[in-house]
Amino acid sequence: MDEMKSTSMYQLMKLQYKRVLLGVLFMTFGVGIQLLSPWVMKILVDQAIPQKKQTLLYGLILILALSPFLVTSLGAIRNQMTHYIGGYVTDQFRRLIFRKLTRLSPTTYYQFRSGEIANRIYSCGEIGDSLISQTIVPAIFDTCMLVGITGVMFYMNWKMTIVILFMLPILYILTQIFTNKARPKIDQIIQMQQELSGYSTEFVSGLKTVQKFNQAEREHEYQDHWINKYRKLRNRAAFFDNFTTLIVDFGRALGLGIVFSYGAIQIMKGHMTVGSLIAFSVYFPQMFGSLQEVQTAYMRTELTKPKVKLIYEILQLPDEIVYLPREHSQVEGKIKFDQVSFSYDDGRGEISDMSFTILPGEFIGIVGPTGSGKSTLLDLIMRFYQPQKGRIFLDGKDIASYSYEDLRSQIGLVSQDVFLWNQSILYNLKYANPEATEKEIKMCCEKAQILEFIQELPDGFDTIIGERGVKLSGGEKQRLGIAQVLLRKPQILLMDEPTSALDANTEALLQRQLKNIFLGKTVLVVAHRLATVRDADRIFVLKDGRLIEMGTHEELMKNQSLYYRLFNEQYKEK
Ligand code: ADP
Ligand code: MG
Repeated sequence: MDEMKSTSMYQLMKLQYKRVLLGVLFMTFGVGIQLLSPWVMKILVDQAIPQKKQTLLYGLILILALSPFLVTSLGAIRNQMTHYIGGYVTDQFRRLIFRKLTRLSPTTYYQFRSGEIANRIYSCGEIGDSLISQTIVPAIFDTCMLVGITGVMFYMNWKMTIVILFMLPILYILTQIFTNKARPKIDQIIQMQQELSGYSTEFVSGLKTVQKFNQAEREHEYQDHWINKYRKLRNRAAFFDNFTTLIVDFGRALGLGIVFSYGAIQIMKGHMTVGSLIAFSVYFPQMFGSLQEVQTAYMRTELTKPKVKLIYEILQLPDEIVYLPREHSQVEGKIKFDQVSFSYDDGRGEISDMSFTILPGEFIGIVGPTGSGKSTLLDLIMRFYQPQKGRIFLDGKDIASYSYEDLRSQIGLVSQDVFLWNQSILYNLKYANPEATEKEIKMCCEKAQILEFIQELPDGFDTIIGERGVKLSGGEKQRLGIAQVLLRKPQILLMDEPTSALDANTEALLQRQLKNIFLGKTVLVVAHRLATVRDADRIFVLKDGRLIEMGTHEELMKNQSLYYRLFNEQYKEK
């Protein structure tokens, strides 16, 4: 776990220092051997052949014969090392993002589209595998090659080397021009990739809506616009990329001609040996090959930089959720709000100056028009969000002083829309409490009025729930959500319109069950149907984030205020 703290690529590489060292070692050997061969050729042509030295001849031939084996095997080891290092970096970055996400508050992670985050997790591979294994390490190797070759060439014939080196700045400037032209395109490409991932995920989850509203044409138009724009950008970027390659290729072809012509003249004048020219004619293409590799690596790095930035954008977010050590203490269930105010984006007050105390064992109904802050109130108790003003107490202790695990093991929340994994029913139930026994699971399902339904399924508890539980009806999902919470045996139960999708009969049954199960525990039920909470010890009436009324059904009816109006609207005929 400790190594998860390091977030910079440098720190991660440091953890892999053995492999890095090994890689560097084999790289140095590799460069040495590649430099050796042309030199051997030179000695062969200039000394062994004219002087008819047989031992030298065979010795040199042996070196020439062995060097390809050495070069390739050293290269293979080096590649393997860099592959490991790159893979390690990729894996660590992925882990870091996943871990970071669980340490963010909903206000932060809901700013990103889910597809965009998925894309960033995916593109970690581009840092480790592409950037490190296939780009940076080869670039270092080729830079070493360039320096080595230049050194050896200088040693052999400095005049010729200067002629060659003279070409390099010109090439550099030319390629730089095109690279600079490509860079803004690359930024746009990355930006578009992000948006495309975000849109694609949304499109897939909204497919039914697209079909329902007959909007396929409109979506296709939008997609085509996208696809065309993206392709155009890619083509432009590829054009500049190809042009730089072209320039280097051209330089190589032209350069080889110059080397040979200039070399021939030098040989005629007796300033150069044939062996040197042969060596040069091998070194020179090698040099350009390396140059090209460095150039490509540079382009790739430019291409990856914006993606790295996107990954760091998430990694550098401060941890909003600090996991404290657990205490496992059982709470009694007293909840107190002390002048609590909260808004999602410091704009409207979703909860304004709210104060109340709920005693252990109380059954509280929460009602109010949509958007009045009922769900937000429950989320605040769960500490998904932090109030901007005021404090929330549980058993007289600020909820901020509980560890998240402790707090959430005491409170069960049945959300408005139940999220289920695309796994078996059993998996989803055990997700709520991994230690639950089969007997407990069955019992909780029975109490949640879902056991019969599950047992009638062909695969029973092993039935796989479709993605986002689409194979289940809203009511079935709600009842599974209730079973999940029952399995957790919380001291405090929060329910957000838990039975809104059930028929009146099932609802009444379930209500009676829940009341029995949670006898003596603190229960907060948000209800749209007012009859659901009619028997509550107290009913809280919310409007525009304010607690405007509080009391039993009879008291509130007597008040003839908002609750009275809402009740009469819903049950006019009765
Ligand atoms: P209720 O459950 O009473 O219908 P909510 O608590 O869900 O109401 O919402 C209260 C207000 O907060 C609404 O005006 C809603 O638009 C806003 N709201 C809810 N969730 C978010 C969110 N994640 N980001 C920004 N605003 C939100
Ligand atoms: Mg709500």
